[in-house]
Amino acid sequence: MVKDTIVAIATAPGEGAIGIVRMSGNQALSILDLVFQAKSKKSALEMKNRMLYYGHITDETHVIDEVLVTKMLAPNTYTCEDVVEINCHGGIVPLQETVKLLLRRGARMAEPGEFTKRAFLNGRLDLAQAESVMDLISAKTPRGFTVAYQQLEGALSKRVGQLRNELLNVMAQLEVSIDYPDVDEEEITFAEIRKRFESVQTGVEDLLASSETGRIIRDGLSTVIVGKPNVGKSSLMNALLRESRAIVTDIPGTTRDVLEEFINVKGVPLRIIDTAGIRQTEDVVEKIGVERSKEFFNKADLIVFVINAAEPLTEEDESIIELLEGRKALIVVNKVDLPRVVDQDQLEERLPNQTFVYTSMMDDNGIEDVENTIAEFVFGGHVIRKENAYVSNIRHINALERTQTALNAAINAVDGMMPYDFIEVDTKDAYAFLGEISGDTVEDDLVTRIFSNFCLGK
Ligand code: GDP
Repeated sequence: MVKDTIVAIATAPGEGAIGIVRMSGNQALSILDLVFQAKSKKSALEMKNRMLYYGHITDETHVIDEVLVTKMLAPNTYTCEDVVEINCHGGIVPLQETVKLLLRRGARMAEPGEFTKRAFLNGRLDLAQAESVMDLISAKTPRGFTVAYQQLEGALSKRVGQLRNELLNVMAQLEVSIDYPDVDEEEITFAEIRKRFESVQTGVEDLLASSETGRIIRDGLSTVIVGKPNVGKSSLMNALLRESRAIVTDIPGTTRDVLEEFINVKGVPLRIIDTAGIRQTEDVVEKIGVERSKEFFNKADLIVFVINAAEPLTEEDESIIELLEGRKALIVVNKVDLPRVVDQDQLEERLPNQTFVYTSMMDDNGIEDVENTIAEFVFGGHVIRKENAYVSNIRHINALERTQTALNAAINAVDGMMPYDFIEVDTKDAYAFLGEISGDTVEDDLVTRIFSNFCLGK
């Protein structure tokens, strides 16, 4: 078991009203006694569980800060250990000085993610749940938060657990058949095993099918907005932002704004990539070259191509149209408030299989259509899966894919009427791969690596 007591600043760096220092471990209370003078004169032991106590943090010579302190007794805490939280004034100096003092009194500086790692090691959270904590913190939209929260609540773990259970049952029956080949009634038929594998396979496929959406909800839909100068790209971004953070200008070629920005479109976090670089058609085709533009486009989940309805298609438009070949894009035909020049039939012929939306940024027309179309791209008309788990973590996706491969091998072995112990090997693999998601079957160094990506104090 973990012995030492760890400490870290739990709140975000910077100046704020309050900053919290968190300490966890079996020395937490005795260390608190060495640094905290409660106004009520109570010792850490006498303090009531989960009550706030007013007082001062002091070292040998002077007061470090005026604070409120809570003790939380094991095992009902974030880490399952004794935890102490000290609410300091929210500035670098009181927080750092308090931590330094706690270190001098016997605590150890926590590593990134170590509090959550202890929650995992002490069995309060499984690995998928622990990982969701980070997703909760970094969620870009309320929907992203909901998905992470469902994972923290165990939606994914539960589903994975069910699938593992099914495999366990198969293994148990295979074992019986291997160990007692003469016991007829226990023997299962190949058809029966196959059916069970297929059921697990469907479950795994279902989880994998959710992963594309899950990934987008978590990391954002990387989006490129292209079009020649002055067609209304910034206006579109502004409309989507619903606040003028991008610069709108009359002068062609002067629009330059932030490199990356998240826009919440119906729950989809759009990550607008390298807007400045791609702004001008010249940048796309002439400056960075066709090959590199293609690469750039390939990196995007979504390409939004803005066309001016009041002008004929130009060479610049044509070069973008060529680049879009074979890619799914959203074509925004803008400025429909002006007399229409661009030919609609020609457009649809030049851009087959693409989705068109007609807009006027001038009178806020069609923005809702743009938003709905983007949401449709991501959710395919489905509402968020409530009780079902989304998979969004690359590590989980990878484990599911390996499970899939093992299950295929198992089914092949069944079809080839291989000996039971042959089938059992693949079944065990599938079982172990699924277990990596919940952390039942992972190596220690992987666990270390996962938590090292956390922020300090979490
Ligand atoms: P960008 O260079 O593609 O980013 O284009 P901007 O968004 O900066 O727009 C260029 C100019 O076109 C600005 O003066 C906008 O006000 C104007 N504009 C944008 N959308 C529309 C529209 O739908 N109708 C009309 N009439 N003007 C628009």
